[in-house]
Amino acid sequence: MSSPPVTRRTVLRTTAVAGAFSAASPLFMAEPAAAARPDAGVSAYAFPLAAVQLLSSPFSAAAGRIHSYLLFLDNDRLLHTFRLNVGLASSATPCGGWESPTTELRGHSTGHILSALAQAYASTGNTAFKTKGDQLVTVLAQCQSRAVTAGYNTGYLSAFPESFIDRVEARQAVWAPYYTLHKLFAGLLDMHLLAGNAQALTVLTGMAAWVKFRNDRLTQTQRQNMLDTEFGGMNEVLTNLYQLTGNAAHLAAAQQFDHAEIFDPLAANTDNLNNYHANTQIPKVIGAIREYHATGTTRYRDIAVNFWDIVTRRHTYAIGGNSNGEYFKAPDRIASELSDTTAECCNSHNMLKLTRQLFFTDPSRVDYLDYYEKALYNHILASQDPNSAHGFQCYYVPLRAGGIKTYSNDYNSFVCCHGTGMESSTKFGDSIYFHDGAGTLYVNLFIPSVLTWSARGVTIRQETGFPEAAATKLTVTGSGTFTVKVRIPSWASSATVRVNGTVFVSPAPGTFATINRTWASGDVVDVTLPMALTREATNDNSSVQAVKVGPIVLGGLFGTSNLSALPVLNPSSLTATSTPLQYTAGGVTLQPFYKVHGQRYSVYWSVNSTPPLPLFVAQYLFDGNGNDATGNGRTATVVNGTYVTGRTGSAVNLNGSNGYVALPAGILAGATNFSIALWVRVDVLANWARVFDFGSGTGVNMFLTARSGSGTARFAITATGAGGEQRIDAPAALPAGAWTHVAVTRNGNLGVLYVNGAEVARNTALTTSPANLGSTTQNWVGRSQYADPYLDGAVDSLRIYSRALTATEVADFASNGT
Ligand SMILES: [Zn+2]
Repeated sequence: MSSPPVTRRTVLRTTAVAGAFSAASPLFMAEPAAAARPDAGVSAYAFPLAAVQLLSSPFSAAAGRIHSYLLFLDNDRLLHTFRLNVGLASSATPCGGWESPTTELRGHSTGHILSALAQAYASTGNTAFKTKGDQLVTVLAQCQSRAVTAGYNTGYLSAFPESFIDRVEARQAVWAPYYTLHKLFAGLLDMHLLAGNAQALTVLTGMAAWVKFRNDRLTQTQRQNMLDTEFGGMNEVLTNLYQLTGNAAHLAAAQQFDHAEIFDPLAANTDNLNNYHANTQIPKVIGAIREYHATGTTRYRDIAVNFWDIVTRRHTYAIGGNSNGEYFKAPDRIASELSDTTAECCNSHNMLKLTRQLFFTDPSRVDYLDYYEKALYNHILASQDPNSAHGFQCYYVPLRAGGIKTYSNDYNSFVCCHGTGMESSTKFGDSIYFHDGAGTLYVNLFIPSVLTWSARGVTIRQETGFPEAAATKLTVTGSGTFTVKVRIPSWASSATVRVNGTVFVSPAPGTFATINRTWASGDVVDVTLPMALTREATNDNSSVQAVKVGPIVLGGLFGTSNLSALPVLNPSSLTATSTPLQYTAGGVTLQPFYKVHGQRYSVYWSVNSTPPLPLFVAQYLFDGNGNDATGNGRTATVVNGTYVTGRTGSAVNLNGSNGYVALPAGILAGATNFSIALWVRVDVLANWARVFDFGSGTGVNMFLTARSGSGTARFAITATGAGGEQRIDAPAALPAGAWTHVAVTRNGNLGVLYVNGAEVARNTALTTSPANLGSTTQNWVGRSQYADPYLDGAVDSLRIYSRALTATEVADFASNGT
């Protein structure tokens, strides 16, 4: 459980660790047109919630349960402590749990509920939600108007006295007053933006003036010290307010919550997260990306991008969640951090908010959406009890073997995750589709829904049984010329896209399938998304693995049996049943984790064989780091490289003397078919300098050189030294000084070398494959196993597959620059 204030005070005295509780808020950026200030640095946008109608699915069911709960809640009970705080009478029954009249966090749920009501209204048009929210705002305004009478400063509004703020400023024990106020700020902004409540904006601007008054009185050092106490997304909500009002005081107030202790290492791309309270930090970083959108200051963007990369690659469980006992641990500690208090649900709510803002910033990053899907199905959807009419919510999702989910209740819980759960479940329509502000539609998620794209005068109806059915269908009503970009997830190999029954494209995983045409009413796009049964090993223990089908994590069902150790799984015993996504293994049933409720389970297994290579093994964008964008965790190490403008985003620049990139050992271990595709700009052509060379020395390797001793580009592979090489010789050397796309594929004994999307050479007797090379240990880009020159040039968007790309796929990469 979370720390009480006394423990927290001890923590503050002894360490620099911040925070003890959790947070969240809505962000809910309406269309850019709703704001006075357009966002800077974005090239994709959300549709308004009202534009997306959910059709029947587990998501609409989850939303419906929260809708019922919102209408069930008694406003007077939610307002009880607000009224008492300013001397107004209240005879309502007090709430319990974290809303009890003696809990220092009281009032936070009213903020969450304002956001949830606003979102529910915007999603459904049901005025009952708006009416309920309006009534809350009316009383909150009344309470705020009594601030001075009650002995507080002008503009103060809370369910607890302003002395809590004195205490946090003075570094005295108090829970998290600004965390609580952030929920209220955000709820009021949502009521204004999504439900058109003018009074909510008036109350909010009064609160914003109050917070600036408080912080202007402090020195910078005092403010920074205060920020060691969890404060939610104060910088985020005040930035969002600035984008709405254009009032520079609101941005200044936001920036007073920029927490240097957290931001400075992130700006330097340093993972300093160990022992920091996880959900205290995530909202700060959502604030950072919004501050980038408001100011164009790239440091804010870098903080957010680096944080996302660090958290999703080094601190994230298979279900997409993070934290153990609410804290980040040392990088890559996953198998060693399985407990009953893993994966606080607020964290994924907030990570998804961050993820969509990052996608708006860089819509070439399909991996953002892949993560969104992972956490949405396996954590967010998995954490609401489908057997509760009111959508009761997990706080943690236990990931120890034999864990069981426990849930909140109507009036006696009100934990943080109960609040963010209400918010998550009233905005499922917010990320299924995006647009580019002009003629491009992004189809991100495969959730049954109808999009009304008013700017284009069309509707898009998406019908799918996904994930139980590995396909989706889009039907266009209306006409016009526009582009539809359908996400092809990194897990979906052999996907196909048909337009009106004709195969349009067989897109590569980790890309968008782009369909640009003049559409007519009734046009249909059918997408197949084959889902393979795979296993995901943890970063810190390769024998601890989760079982997945496509993006869906399976949980093993153990009924009432508690487990003292990870269950053993023999992968070859996994047998599909007649129920979609359901398997058995060794007498245990496995089913989608989001369906596992009311019994003990295990997500992780002890497996005595390494998982087979995924079909899409790794992708390196080299956008400032060596991260693997597939999410498979095969991080590269850049040695003596720098980052320069690339073919897309950044590229890694190698100096020709000692710079190279090292990929993990066994990068293609066991593969028979394979593909390696990348962009390279050879600045200086030197014989035998390697584009790549994967091997374990001069005896065992496979390499591509831009120019061999014969004067042309060459791919070669051998398990028996240079004398045993099998080769594919190009007709010419790679050009110098120009970005060039190169790809090598092997399919059976056919090896093909492509340059700039076109086949230039083949070898039909390429009998040696990576499987013959064993688990290679020196897998280098820009460096040879021999004493050859290092590559002088730049490399971008390196893709590695354990299958042969088709000629169409290679041509697609070459033409799209990806
Ligand atoms: Zn929480």
